[in-house]
Amino acid sequence: MLDAADLMVFYENMLALNNVHIRCKDKEIVGVFGANSAGKSTLMYTISGIMEDIRKKELMAGGERITVLGNITYMGENIMGLKPSRRARKGIVLCPERRRIFSESSVLENLRIGGYLATPSQAKATLDYVFRLFPALVRLKKRVGGFLSGGEQQMLAIGRALMAQPKLLLLDEPLMGLSPLIQATLVRAIKVIRDETGISIMVTEQYARPVIPIVDYAFILENGAAVLEGSRDELLNNPDVRSAYFGV
Ligand code: ATP
Repeated sequence: MLDAADLMVFYENMLALNNVHIRCKDKEIVGVFGANSAGKSTLMYTISGIMEDIRKKELMAGGERITVLGNITYMGENIMGLKPSRRARKGIVLCPERRRIFSESSVLENLRIGGYLATPSQAKATLDYVFRLFPALVRLKKRVGGFLSGGEQQMLAIGRALMAQPKLLLLDEPLMGLSPLIQATLVRAIKVIRDETGISIMVTEQYARPVIPIVDYAFILENGAAVLEGSRDELLNNPDVRSAYFGV
């Protein structure tokens, strides 16, 4: 489904991604784990193409020079030069870090806005699906995004991303700042999405522990480099990896 090779991203002279090879097969859940500043968001921006927008904006404003190198193949096609909107139409949808929902729009409006790429019948079916997946959102339909709890906002952010009809869903730190109970609800929902819809999912997190049970394969990023990778069982059966990264 997705194969990214030799990825290098520089913010001016600062190397944020260093020769990263990463991939996600059809219908897989792939974890990308790394500490603060390891390069997780940079990777998500680079795959979704948002980095192209950021790069152009900086260029026009005379700001920092951002350089992106490498290859990204998605469903057999090289997408490196494509704008983020083109990638979204092809099914690469990013649910960004810190949720970024529209805080002055209602839950329903947020979801409808997310469905701008969908046909009316897809939008209706996905809306029903999101409310089945996250029943907590049903009674909050009319509430504005800004008045939701962190967990509800994250459900809404994932719901909004689903409305865009992803084939590859990129979740950037969906558990950040949430209670263990809400984290468990979200982790279950991520697995249900993959199991029921077959959408491939890449999920980044600082801490691997809550997510590792549902991933098929994972990469560990350190200072912009993918230093380790393996299937869930390979990583869990490696005692060094267990204690250093998973806290188990
Ligand atoms: P976090 O968990 O804190 O979100 P992360 O793993 O997502 O971290 P990135 O946000 O990708 O990490 O950042 C990787 C490195 O690039 C960091 O050192 C960060 O300070 C730097 N960086 C990120 N964005 C920019 C930018 N626009 N300009 C300069 N440096 C940046």
